[in-house]
Amino acid sequence: MKAQVFRGVNQLSYEEIPVPTLEPDEVLVKVQVVGLCQSDIKKIRYPLYEPPRIFGHETAGTIASVGDNVKNWQVGQRVAVMHHIPCMRCAYCLNENYSMCDVYKNISTTAGFNASGGGFAEYVKVPGHIVQNGGLIPIPDDISFEEASFVEPTNCCLKAVKKAQIAPGQTVLITGAGPIGLMFIMLVKYFGGRAIATDLLPSRIEKALNVGAEAAFDARDAELSAKIHAITDGLGVDVTLLAVPSEKAFFQALDCTRKGGKILFFAEFPDEVQIPINPNLLYRREIDLMGSYSSSYRLQNLSADIVFNRRIDVEALISDRYPLQNLSQAVEQAIAPTAETYKILIYP
Ligand SMILES: [Zn+2]
Ligand SMILES: [Zn+2]
Repeated sequence: MKAQVFRGVNQLSYEEIPVPTLEPDEVLVKVQVVGLCQSDIKKIRYPLYEPPRIFGHETAGTIASVGDNVKNWQVGQRVAVMHHIPCMRCAYCLNENYSMCDVYKNISTTAGFNASGGGFAEYVKVPGHIVQNGGLIPIPDDISFEEASFVEPTNCCLKAVKKAQIAPGQTVLITGAGPIGLMFIMLVKYFGGRAIATDLLPSRIEKALNVGAEAAFDARDAELSAKIHAITDGLGVDVTLLAVPSEKAFFQALDCTRKGGKILFFAEFPDEVQIPINPNLLYRREIDLMGSYSSSYRLQNLSADIVFNRRIDVEALISDRYPLQNLSQAVEQAIAPTAETYKILIYP
């Protein structure tokens, strides 16, 4: 089969490799579509993981074969694939910090080499632990593979929305209106909040308004804080979701978030970044700083419900489609987005 193998920083190699062989409790999925995620791009561009690996984790496909002991799944079923499932027993899981679980981190779907998602290949193997514990989600007949590939990223965004306890009527500033920021806008609206977005690209500012933001501003606007205070009764927003790894966005968030509000780090910063902060800002204004990484097992059904019942319009997020062979080009486009670049989908 063909796969895009990560051979080193910025080195993707389109290679012929063996189709994974199955243990009795495993399932093989023929990948129909896989979303290109910011985290894939980081893993390709920075020396975070030893090569060789095959990334890609927002996978939807068709079951191509099942191990001898797998009774609940049949060849031909359409599924969204979760690349991690927590153990549900460790101290982290019992505290609902599923994405900190060692099993969650270490057992992953794979197309070969060190297991790393494996969606950037024609076939991906799903380990027994993931098969048995809810990691295969059946796709309803009227839902496309493309839509189904959004279940995983929806879960990641939903986890952040839940962690920040965004409630009906609350105002939420979303910094960055790329594919993640736009999904945040949709989810905040779905949960009854009022989304306000910032971005640098005029096209994204407009797109933010199109998908449901109540207001959207240029992040460089010198009056940004004043404008946001003007539409939040002079208070500032209840919550800011940082969807870009920008120090400047963080300091804007401090200016624009109300006393007693929350600022959630969603985008991953480069490791060398340090942000100096006066602790009294947090003490006197009681601002909560929090982070949210990856998805939550507990939100899996809700994520599937949101995507499969079209409670948010994930198709509005899709801007580009690339064959697997041209993954490098897709990554280039994501790094240097055109005015109309949002979610990029990859087809083996
Ligand atoms: Zn992702
Ligand atoms: Zn665990």
